[in-house]
Parts: sequence; C-alpha cells; structure tokens
Amino acid sequence: MAKQIQAIRGMNDILPEQTGRWQQLERVMRELLAGYGYSEIRMPIVEQTDLFKRSIGEVTDIVEKEMYTFADRNGDSLTLRPEGTASCVRAGNEHGLLYNQTRRMWYMGPMFRHERPQKGRYRQFHQVGVEAFGLAGPDIDAELILMTARLWKQLGLNDYLTLELNSLASNSARADYREALTAYLREHEALLDEDSVRRLESNPLRILDSKNPAMAEMLAAAPKLSEYWDDESREHFAGLCARLDAAGIEYVHNERLVRGLDYYNRTVFEWVTDSLGAQGTVCAGGRYDGLVEQLGGKATPAVGFAMGIERLVLMLEQVESFKVPRDVDIYLAAVGEVAELPAMALAERIRDDLPELRVMLHCGGGKFAKQLKKADQSGAEIALILGADEVAAERITVKHLRLDKAQESLAYAELVAVLRTLIAE
Ligand code: ATP
Ligand code: MG
Repeated sequence: MAKQIQAIRGMNDILPEQTGRWQQLERVMRELLAGYGYSEIRMPIVEQTDLFKRSIGEVTDIVEKEMYTFADRNGDSLTLRPEGTASCVRAGNEHGLLYNQTRRMWYMGPMFRHERPQKGRYRQFHQVGVEAFGLAGPDIDAELILMTARLWKQLGLNDYLTLELNSLASNSARADYREALTAYLREHEALLDEDSVRRLESNPLRILDSKNPAMAEMLAAAPKLSEYWDDESREHFAGLCARLDAAGIEYVHNERLVRGLDYYNRTVFEWVTDSLGAQGTVCAGGRYDGLVEQLGGKATPAVGFAMGIERLVLMLEQVESFKVPRDVDIYLAAVGEVAELPAMALAERIRDDLPELRVMLHCGGGKFAKQLKKADQSGAEIALILGADEVAAERITVKHLRLDKAQESLAYAELVAVLRTLIAE
C-alpha cells in the first residue's frame, strides 16, 4: 500500500461528527451579531507581510515567532493571516468604509500561527472577530461586552467564564509606566526568566503576562499601570465599569492584563475559563484607536475582540444544555426493487412539502433488517418503510425509532401531519 500523507501538525480536520456543533455555534453567533446590527465582512486569508508587522508589532510573539510567511512566485513577502483585525482595517481603509462614519462589522474564519500544538492551541484555528469603528466612548466597549455576555448565556457557558478588564491608557501614560516598570524589573533582574530578560528592552509590559510561578511574587509587587492612567483614560474606564454594573455584568480589574499585540490602548478585556487547562482565554479584545491611522487611514477610534472557536467548541462539548440539531430526521427505507422508484419520488415529495426536514433516502438496496439498522445509525427520529405491499396500497409504514410507539400505516396526507410534529421540536 502507498504511504499515506498526513495533515500538517496543528492543522485539524473537522469531521462530520463535529461539524454539527460548529454549525450550531456559528448559527447562534450570526443571529446574535445581526441582532446588534453588525454586518459581515470577508477578507482574504493571505496578506502582505508588512500589514502584520506594522499593526501587531515587530517585537510580539506573533510577528517574531508565529507567522507563516513565504515568498510569492514574484518574490513578494506574503503571510497567512495570524488574526483578523489588521486585515479588517486594511479592507476598511482600502474601500473607504471607515472615514467619517461608524461601522460595526464581523468576520469568521481560519487564522494561522506557528505555535506548539496542544489542547486548545493549534496552528490553524478559527476566530469570530467583531470590530466597531468611529466610536470613541465607553458605550461601544460596553456593547461589545454585553454582546459576548449574551452569547455565553445563549450557549449555557456563563457559569464557566469570568470577565477580566484593564485599561492600557494613552500612549504617553503607558510610556511613563513602561519606564517605571522597566526600572523596577531591572532591580529584580536576577529573578527574571530568559523570555523576560529578552522582553525587558523590547516589550516589558508583556512580562506582566508571565505565568512563571518563580516570578509571581515579584510581579505582584511591581508598580501598577493604573497609577499612571491619564484622566481621560480613567474616566473612560469608569464609564465602562458603570455601564457593566448597570447591566449586571461582573468583572475583575486585572492590573496585569496587557494583551500580546501592540495596537491596543485604553480598554482591554478577556473572558477566561479554568475548564480548558492552560488555554484559558476564550475571547479577547480591546480598543485600538491608533491603528486605522497607522495603516494609512484617517484617525478613527476603534474597538473589537476575537473569540477562539475551537476553545468554545471544547467548552460546549462539556455542556449538556447545548443542543445540536439532528443530521437526519427521517430515514426512508425502500425494500425490494418495486419500491425503489416510488421511494425516491416520496423523498422528493416530502422535501417539497416539508423543506425544514432532513430526509435521508436509503441507497444501495439490501434486506429490510440491514436498512433498519442504517436508519437507526443515522440518528433519525423516524423510519419510513416502503415495500411492495405499501406501494400496492399507496400507504407508508412509519416506525418511531426513538419512542416506544406502535408502528403505523398511513396515507400520504396523514404522514405529513405526523412529520410536521418533528419540525416543531
Ligand atoms: P493566548 O494567550 O491563548 O496565546 P492570544 O492572546 O494569542 O491567546 P488573541 O490573539 O487575542 O490570542 O486571539 C483571540 C482568541 O483566539 C484567543 O483568546 C483564543 O481563544 C484564540 N486563539 C489564539 N491563538 C490560538 C491558537 N493557536 N489556537 C486556538 N485558538 C487560539
Ligand atoms: Mg498567543
């Protein structure tokens, strides 16, 4: 036998047994986003490498170590997108969607990062991203958080997620803080791990993010970012908290939440869980008021977030209340050659009259018992049986596969009435 070619490490197939859950999650999200007036934008998966370098930042994990970058045939440096915000801003600028107006947009699709694959962390993964442009106040920050909170409720996940908030304040306030933090960290340089020593020059705020227990005590005593907040940022943060309080949304102010991308300012937030091991962040975002201008557009305030679909799916697998629709409602068995054409016609007729139902027609013939076994395996609620007797009498035998209910023999009109009850469920 020829050697099989395997998928690339960290890039997963999502199998038919799993796609029902994905589709249901995607349906819920689409409806939720529409309910808040957000419209979908679809961007390419490949962009010029410079787009990500200029937006995410040269000294970030993503740009330094995680990007899939390659030379196009004509020598241009291209990159598989590691996230969606940069592309969304690029598209918004390119098509004049952002200037002098407000825009609420979302997108869904694969992202690529060369990380060490583990549970909840892959090299191709999927995000739903949501971005709002042209709005500077804390009201829109609150709206985005309210929207995610509603989603958790709809998915039955609200008990397992905690909201963490922080403000990265203005660029100048953050620069002052950076100086103070760097000075403090230098005093404790002996305690810093290798990664942190490297970041001391390039991106010291990221050291606060470290999960290294040996540094925990030292970091807990570090100067606090909130001590350096400028007045507007302080007010903005208070405005956001007031709105969350009014909506009854609980949060924790995490002074050490800094996020891994350079473009953030003011509000940053994460929804975290302890049910996924180390990969605890399910949804993360914040304000990026400078990015549109940085990428060549007119200065435009902006805020957004992204959710990791794989992590949500992993959580949903643990939640019983998340119902996934059946793949098949009705399995139609055709027993004997004489039933085959009428069965196909019957399946089409049911699809005409009850398009909401999922009808699977048995193909390939075979004995009644084998067909019934297939019907059961399909997950269908009802098996319809058409044999020579049924064809002659113009009736259909109905077998309830999941209920303790007697088999019945029905005319087509009666059958439709029975099948309708499956739709209402
Ligand atoms: P982490 O701290 O887990 O590396 P991040 O800060 O790099 O996350 P973002 O860039 O903010 O993540 O992406 C938003 C969300 O996308 C994350 O909260 C997570 O749910 C998901 N995500 C990010 N990287 C991966 C990955 N490699 N595999 C699966 N999901 C991911
Ligand atoms: Mg990461």
